[in-house]
Amino acid sequence: MDFDLSPEMTALQQSVRRLSQEKIKPRAREIDATGEYPEDVFDAFRDADLLGLSIPTELGGSGAGILGLSLAIEEVAKYSNVCALMLLLTRLPVGPVLIAGSDDQKKRYLPGIATGELRAAFGLSEPQAGSDVAGMRTRATPESGAGSRTRSVTGSGSEGGWVLNGTKCWMSGVREADWYTVFAKTGDPVSRDHGGITAFIVERGWEGVSVPRTDHKMGVRGVDTGELVLDDVHVPAENVIGEVGGFRLAMLGLNAMRPIVAARGIGLAEGALMYATEYVKGREAFGGTISDLQGVRWEIAKIAVDIEAARLLTYRAAWLADQGKFTKEYVPFLSSAKYFATELAVRASGLAVQLLGAAGYMTDHPTELWYRDARQLTIVEGTSQVQLDLIARGVLAHHLWWD
Ligand SMILES: Cc1cc2nc3c(=O)[nH]c(=O)nc-3n(C[C@H](O)[C@H](O)[C@H](O)COP(=O)(O)OP(=O)(O)OC[C@H]3O[C@@H](n4cnc5c(N)ncnc54)[C@H](O)[C@@H]3O)c2cc1C
Repeated sequence: MDFDLSPEMTALQQSVRRLSQEKIKPRAREIDATGEYPEDVFDAFRDADLLGLSIPTELGGSGAGILGLSLAIEEVAKYSNVCALMLLLTRLPVGPVLIAGSDDQKKRYLPGIATGELRAAFGLSEPQAGSDVAGMRTRATPESGAGSRTRSVTGSGSEGGWVLNGTKCWMSGVREADWYTVFAKTGDPVSRDHGGITAFIVERGWEGVSVPRTDHKMGVRGVDTGELVLDDVHVPAENVIGEVGGFRLAMLGLNAMRPIVAARGIGLAEGALMYATEYVKGREAFGGTISDLQGVRWEIAKIAVDIEAARLLTYRAAWLADQGKFTKEYVPFLSSAKYFATELAVRASGLAVQLLGAAGYMTDHPTELWYRDARQLTIVEGTSQVQLDLIARGVLAHHLWWD
C-alpha cells in the first residue's frame, strides 16, 4: 500500500494550487456577485492544460484521469466552487462518450473539450424526474422520411436517426455548451423499464434545440443551470452513445463521477476551515483569542479529521474509477466518497460561518458564499439520500462487507 501521490500528480496539485491562489481566489467574490460566466478563468484553465485532464492523450487530453481531475478540482474548490464546476464539466457529459462512445464520436467531440474549443453539458434531470430517472418524459422516436436535417459542428451530417422531444432542466453550463449528452426514452414512454432509456449527443446548433431560460440560484453563480428544450430535434443514428436502451451508461457515467464531485466538497471544506482557523487565531476575546477556547478547538479538530477521512475515501474512489472499477460492485465505495465529502462541505462551511460570528454572515468574508455553494453539493449528481440508498444496497449485497 502506498499513500503517496506520484511525482506527476504532486506537480499537478502544486501547479493548480498556485493558479487557484493567483487567478481564482481574487475573482471568486466578483463571479458570485455578477453571476457572469468567467471566461477569463476558462482561458486560464485552457492555458494551463487543465481542460483535458480526464481525457486520454490519444484524444488530445493529458491523461491524468479521474484522480488528476479530482486533485485539480480540490485545489480550485478551496476558493470557488463554481470554477471547480467548470472543470467538472470537462468530464460529466464526456464520461458516457468515453465509456461507451464510438471511435468516431470520441474523435469528433472530445479533443475540442481538451483544447477549450468545445464545451458540453449533461442532461438527465427533468422537471418531474430528478432522482426518479425512470420518470423522464423526453422521447426519442425513430426518424421517418427522407434525410436528416442535422449537420454537425464538426462538419459531418447523416441520414436517418432519431427525433427527440422533451425538456431537460437544471442543466449546468447549458448556455455555454456546444453539445449535450442527453438521455431520452426510446422504449415505451410510460414504462419504468431502464432498458428503454438511451443516451444521445445533441448539438446546440441543431434546429429545435433551445435554451429558453436559466435559473436564479442560491449559489454556484457564474455557471448557469437552466432548461434545454428539444423540439423535434433530428439526431443522426451515429450520435447514439453506446447501444439503444443503454441506460446503464448513465449510471456508469455517474458512478465514475463520484470522486470528482466529492473533490468539490473536500476543497470547499478545506478552504472554509483554513479561513476560519486563521480568523479565530487573530480574534481577541476573554484575554486571549477565540482559538484558545477548547470548545472551538474541538470543532476545528473534528472537521480536520473528517477532511482527511474524506480525502482517503475520495482518492481511493478515484483510484478505483481510473481502473475502470465503477460497475455495480464498486458503487458503495464510490458513493461513500460523494456522500461523506459533500455532507462535510455543508458542515465545514456552517462551522466557518459560526466561528466568524457576525463577520461570517457578511459578504466581507467568503464564508457565507461557501455556505451557499456547499448546499448544492448534497443535491447534485445523486442526492445524499440516494447515495445512502446505493451504499445500503451495496452492503445488503455484500459488495461492501468485512468478512
Ligand atoms: C446547482 C444544480 C446543478 C445541477 N446540474 C445538473 C446537470 O448538469 N444535469 C442534470 O441532469 N441535473 C442537474 N441538476 C439536478 C440534480 O441532479 C437533481 O436536482 C437531483 O438529481 C435531485 O433531483 P430533484 O431535484 O428532482 O429531487 P427529487 O428527486 O424530487 O428529491 C426530493 C427529495 O427526496 C429525496 N429522495 C428522492 N429519492 C429518494 C429515495 N429513493 N430515498 C430517500 N429519499 C429520496 C431526495 O434526496 C430529496 O431530498 C442540478 C441541480 C442543481 C441544484
